[in-house]
Amino acid sequence: MATDIGPPDFRAMLPEVIKKNYGKWKYHEILRPGVLKHVSEDGDILYTIRVGSPRLLAIDTVRDICDIADKFCNGHLRFTSRHNIEFMVTDESKVEPLIQEIRNKLGFPVGGTGRCISNIVHTQGWIHCHTPATDASGVVKAIMDELYEYFVEEKLPAKLRISEACCGNMCGAIHCSDIGIVGMHTRPPSRIDDENFLTWCEIPTTLASCPTAAIRRHTTEDGKKTVRIIEERCMYCGNCYTVCAAMPIAHPEGDGVAIFVGGKVSNAKTPPKFPRLASPWIPNNPPRWPEVVSAVKNIVEVYAKHARKGERLGDWIDRVGWPTFFRLTGIPFTEKHIDDFTGALATYRTSTHLKL
Ligand code: SF4
Ligand code: SF4
Repeated sequence: MATDIGPPDFRAMLPEVIKKNYGKWKYHEILRPGVLKHVSEDGDILYTIRVGSPRLLAIDTVRDICDIADKFCNGHLRFTSRHNIEFMVTDESKVEPLIQEIRNKLGFPVGGTGRCISNIVHTQGWIHCHTPATDASGVVKAIMDELYEYFVEEKLPAKLRISEACCGNMCGAIHCSDIGIVGMHTRPPSRIDDENFLTWCEIPTTLASCPTAAIRRHTTEDGKKTVRIIEERCMYCGNCYTVCAAMPIAHPEGDGVAIFVGGKVSNAKTPPKFPRLASPWIPNNPPRWPEVVSAVKNIVEVYAKHARKGERLGDWIDRVGWPTFFRLTGIPFTEKHIDDFTGALATYRTSTHLKL
């Protein structure tokens, strides 16, 4: 049915071979990192070439990508939710020339399938959003430069998904990734702009935005209506700044990054699971974030060395136990790892059994 709002029906843009075989794909295999082969019940074959993209793309790069899709794929391509570009061809003889064209024209790597790290899904960061506690593309670029070999070669026990969200709003896929990098504020909004408060913000909505009731009405000595924060109640979520631009929360020393591990969406072998805290806070150190890069690389390498084939990061930790995870990675276990949320009792493990 035609509609004048929202995106067009996705079926209108499917490549012919996918339209024809919709719901009839029999199996697929990974020929090599970044090259998938799907076979349908009718015997049709589709080759997919997965390419890492930097997510933020110049218009010229988008034009180059589209030119390649026009030349090899009848004008079709798709972006995965992790910012990979996928080019699809039915003719096996086009696979190699297509990969060469991608290398020559775009300079992007082919990989990210199977037992590789896929592209890192990430958020807006300092380039666009107003509440980040860290950058997104900058951190991700620094990490993937270091972990490049794990994108182009199958060197891991199982697939490894990394994501980054630059604040606790978590527009990235932290909750369902093997390694999640989250921007953390650790100071309350401290520079409340009393001069502009009533021009930019409404007091009732600002008060209502705070989940911990940390914001109170305040009148300045010269009679200006504004607000103040009860600092011991603030949990640095930044929600007030989302509704009131007069309460910026970003802080050059207080902002940094936390790392979570062990999440996944997959139902294979074990059910989906949320990740848990590994590193509570690592300082921002742009432009290359060396501390964050080495913390992520350390987790990847320890996992690669100790997990069994087919074992996702969280499954490996479940098998060996969290004390072993902290011992092998050398990450200190501190009071920050103990959940002190008022409802945390419901999730505490109450058994005395520990895997050491
Ligand atoms: Fe903005 Fe937070 Fe989303 Fe990053 S995670 S894009 S800072 S809302
Ligand atoms: Fe409340 Fe969050 Fe703002 Fe702190 S940062 S005052 S907890 S809304």
